[in-house]
Amino acid sequence: MTDDAPAPRCTICPRQLLDHETGRYVCLPCEQRIDRDLQAIAGPAGLYARLCLRIQPGRRGGAPAVSGTPGRGTPADLQILSLTATGGIVSTLETWVEDWATYGLAIHGTGGRLQHRVDTAVATLRRNLTRAASRHPALDEMAREIGQIRRQAEAIISGERPPRRVAVQCPCDTVSTVTLNTSGFTCRGCQREYGHSEALQLPLAERRAA
Ligand SMILES: [Zn+2]
Ligand SMILES: [Zn+2]
Repeated sequence: MTDDAPAPRCTICPRQLLDHETGRYVCLPCEQRIDRDLQAIAGPAGLYARLCLRIQPGRRGGAPAVSGTPGRGTPADLQILSLTATGGIVSTLETWVEDWATYGLAIHGTGGRLQHRVDTAVATLRRNLTRAASRHPALDEMAREIGQIRRQAEAIISGERPPRRVAVQCPCDTVSTVTLNTSGFTCRGCQREYGHSEALQLPLAERRAA
């Protein structure tokens, strides 16, 4: 380390990398957190399986209903369905597997049932995680998405209400929808990046017809 070159920082937390973390994009504690989040999602007692348990076939053979809730189509039901169906958690995981494969970091899964695909993707990502920490520049984005899956799933399973969403308006007039526990966002209009507190200090956008 020289005086004029700033020590590289973890792209996630973002503390300075220590000597034994040289050459990595993220620090060891952040890598371990990603690994714990992945581990929590997979397996027969994992978050994905527990979300699926909340869905049972509708009594009259219609669309799946969610146990313990009257009627169908409440926001929580829809959230569970969108997380557990193709396009939900499994697609997020498999998209990262495919993305990592372009870095020589992963092998494609072999299809099968959704739970199997989730488990395979998680196992692949965990097996390659340490190498990804020094090879994959977008590990912070992956960490954010995986962490969000874990928080969403845990909130649903524990019966918490989903965080309230608010529409905020950037000075460039672009309206973005954020949750009250957002870690930040990038404005689609002007590409400006907002952190958590900056995002929540933006003026609320006027509610528009949905
Ligand atoms: Zn870190
Ligand atoms: Zn903007």
